[in-house]
Amino acid sequence: MKEPMIQVDLSQPRLRLSLWQCIQLRINWSVFIGYKQRPGWKGALPFYLARCPKHGFYESYPQGYSRRLPCPRCLEEEHARIRREGLP
Ligand SMILES: [Zn+2]
Repeated sequence: MKEPMIQVDLSQPRLRLSLWQCIQLRINWSVFIGYKQRPGWKGALPFYLARCPKHGFYESYPQGYSRRLPCPRCLEEEHARIRREGLP
């Protein structure tokens, strides 16, 4: 089956991925897109474009000891579930 074209729709200025980045995104489900610094941060952090099987594309940076790239919408859903049902 032919895979659909990777379409990146971020509200930020249009992100252009090189062919190599598209390949990495497909293999690793994430690709380095550059360093960014947000207001209040001491320095810039490496940002990645990642793909959630449920929510599609999102931008994130490695967090926690596991250096995971959590999907913000999955986190939101998880927090809502914990608020509703409590911790397992
Ligand atoms: Zn998600």
